[in-house]
Amino acid sequence: MNLVFLGPPGAGKGSQAALVCEKYSIPHISTGNMLRAAIAQKTSMGLAAKKNIDAGNLVPDDVVIEIVKQRLAEDDCKNGYLLDGFPRTIAQAQKLDEFATLDLVILVDVDDKSIIKRLSRRRTCVDCSSTYDISKVPEDACHSCGGRLVRRTDDSKETIKNRLNVYHELTSPLVTYYKDSGRLCKVDGKATIEVVFSAVSEVLDTI
Ligand code: ADP
Ligand code: ZN
Repeated sequence: MNLVFLGPPGAGKGSQAALVCEKYSIPHISTGNMLRAAIAQKTSMGLAAKKNIDAGNLVPDDVVIEIVKQRLAEDDCKNGYLLDGFPRTIAQAQKLDEFATLDLVILVDVDDKSIIKRLSRRRTCVDCSSTYDISKVPEDACHSCGGRLVRRTDDSKETIKNRLNVYHELTSPLVTYYKDSGRLCKVDGKATIEVVFSAVSEVLDTI
């Protein structure tokens, strides 16, 4: 099962991906998490990507394409994987079609107003990347691993707006790209995590 989760920042792709990957025992491949890990490790790639990420812009296509290509070549991807946050441009999608065969692309749909609200309240675990709504989880530690919860540097008001603009301009054309090739399925991302997950599971049971 080779899957892609598509959708705006803060749509809940990461939370849904974690649930799907646990249920089907496939690796969760998040380019955002991989880039943040590279930043934390201060690799030259990470340091170069940091200024784009902090500004809410995309990291260059060739950089992320190479990361994903190498990751998909690893053994644990043989029985399937879930890509979260990749592809984000038509060029990335075209390249991906050269080295991977996708079974399904799931669009997690959420309107801009809700996104802005969600991202400004979001806190992220520095260790395992779990996310929390600050109004619901006021404590300072991650429920799954005890890690420190922080506001991601790109979850600031101005940067959120830019990320949404980038999404509409560069990433949303992928909806048509995948619809035209019959690989797209849409779920409403505005419901609770549990309700969205049952919609996602229903879709996945059909393949
Ligand atoms: P979100 O979906 O909440 O915006 P991600 O963790 O997926 O967050 O991505 C964070 C940032 O990492 C993006 O704003 C972008 O700068 C960079 N990034 C992640 N994936 C890609 C990609 N496929 N192409 C280019 N940049 C990417
Ligand atoms: Zn954690």
